[in-house]
Amino acid sequence: MADEINNTEAAAGNFIQDFIREDIAEGGMYEGRTVHTRFPPEPNGYLHIGHAKAVCIDFGTAEKFGGICNLRMDDTNPTKEDVEYIDAIKEDIRWLGFDWDDRFYFASEYFEQMYEYAVELIKKGLAYVCELTPEQVRENRGDLTTPAKSPFRDRPIEESLDLFERMKNGEFEEGKMTLRAKIDLASGNFNMRDPVIYRINRIRHHRTGDKWCIYPMYDFAHPIEDAIEGITHSLCTLEFEAHRPLYDWVIDNITAPCKPRQIEFSRLGINNTVMSKRKLRQLVEDGYVAGWDDPRMPTLCGLRRRGYTPASIRNFCEKIGVSKTNSVVEYSFLEHCLRDDLNENARRVMCVLHPVKLVITNYPEGKTETFEVENNPQKPEDGTRTITFSRECYIEAEDFIEEKIKGYNRFYPGNEVRLKSAYIVKCTGCKKDENGKVVEVYAEYDPATRGGDTPDGRKVRGTVHWVDADNYLEAEVRLYENLFTDPEPDVGDKNFLDYINPTSLTVLKGCIIEKSVEGAQAPMSFQFMRLGYFCLDKDSTPDRLIFNRSVSLKDGYKKK
Ligand code: ATP
Ligand code: MG
Repeated sequence: MADEINNTEAAAGNFIQDFIREDIAEGGMYEGRTVHTRFPPEPNGYLHIGHAKAVCIDFGTAEKFGGICNLRMDDTNPTKEDVEYIDAIKEDIRWLGFDWDDRFYFASEYFEQMYEYAVELIKKGLAYVCELTPEQVRENRGDLTTPAKSPFRDRPIEESLDLFERMKNGEFEEGKMTLRAKIDLASGNFNMRDPVIYRINRIRHHRTGDKWCIYPMYDFAHPIEDAIEGITHSLCTLEFEAHRPLYDWVIDNITAPCKPRQIEFSRLGINNTVMSKRKLRQLVEDGYVAGWDDPRMPTLCGLRRRGYTPASIRNFCEKIGVSKTNSVVEYSFLEHCLRDDLNENARRVMCVLHPVKLVITNYPEGKTETFEVENNPQKPEDGTRTITFSRECYIEAEDFIEEKIKGYNRFYPGNEVRLKSAYIVKCTGCKKDENGKVVEVYAEYDPATRGGDTPDGRKVRGTVHWVDADNYLEAEVRLYENLFTDPEPDVGDKNFLDYINPTSLTVLKGCIIEKSVEGAQAPMSFQFMRLGYFCLDKDSTPDRLIFNRSVSLKDGYKKK
């Protein structure tokens, strides 16, 4: 992480921007063109925080140069697409604050052109129909010292043209033949050893239906999609680095309308979670989580429901920077970025998670007084709210112990404690039920300490939060921990499902919250004083308030 998180580097731009500046300075094809990027998700799942990094780089880089970025559904592979995902992807990108204007495309819109380009390659003697089965292709791929082989490589152009057309017309079985680019069977880069560029696949496509039974491979399709859309810089993750020669080969050998440049950056990994859509889908489908937007999921909809703000995620993506080395970022750094935002912007309220009643025995019965307190000390412009105080209030059960222990400054008989923003009270004892459980705590208040200050300057160490027992709302509060107990649950031959954290969700019912939250809408965030940042869940209703803990107050991220 150390080399990824580097503010000065981020501020000075990054290597992608340097490359683009070079391209602009060199003129040539970039003369007069705006920088044009694209974000090309495969619509086979919801976007996750790794995608957010790519979105920020793709849209952010274009923005930086006054350019534009397209949103393109990379739906050339007919097996996995689902329409449900497309709307979610759009919603998530808009939520992050990016806009593709009217430039929303499907790669499948270009199938006809891709087919034409494939024919062009065959006519140029640069592609041929190969009848090796996928297995045989594998067996014949050679090794570092032995070139690959295909007995069909030198088949006449006319024959390939005829077979390719018949492949398209559905005359052959799946797996019977493929179209391969004729490049270099001895290349040290195996991607260049006559890669398959079209295969037969008798699967209905969610947009083109049964029109096609041959589909282009990613390495052939992607550069064409980019070229058709006039993309100048095709930014992608590092695993495509070894595919770049093929990307360039395709562009160089078809009559492409423009010559995009592929630039790779490192993939984002975060510990204690998994990031692959396939694995995330499994968590959903097998019921390990409540859905794609379960607040424990690293999906953008999950993070949003958890209380993450667009600003916190964009800030996170900015701070981790862009590099060429894959690395795993600590989850606590993501939390750190959220805390930074919420500390600045969230309203403070008091909420008691494990309530026990505190009775102020010398406070008049039936009396109520009010206090004006700041909504957010970080932001005086956010104004104040009124909280009420009466003879009884709720405090956290853990803020009372019967016998003093060293270092404990809260309620125990004889000790003075500050009820935040209200009064200093002195604990006098408690009442227990037949099982020995504390059901009420008693205290006496000092009327001279209104607001929580001692007029004589005497020291009161402990300050606790509380809620007026005469004026409150009940809430359900959901506490979350990591979804996985292992920092790297899917590395090596580990099965990530073996590391599911059984206590990743704790539901607390009957929590007591001050009434000032009335009317707030999900996903509004609050700081529950002393407890952390919480946001209203989307399932929350005025009759049944539900809060999710977004992040605790304590920063687990240590600056290295
Ligand atoms: P997954 O394995 O999660 O399905 P993917 O790469 O197959 O990921 P795509 O929908 O193809 O998912 O990704 C769209 C874009 O997002 C691609 O450009 C991809 O490189 C980028 N991307 C995906 N995952 C990450 C990640 N963890 N970090 C950075 N970029 C990512
Ligand atoms: Mg993919």
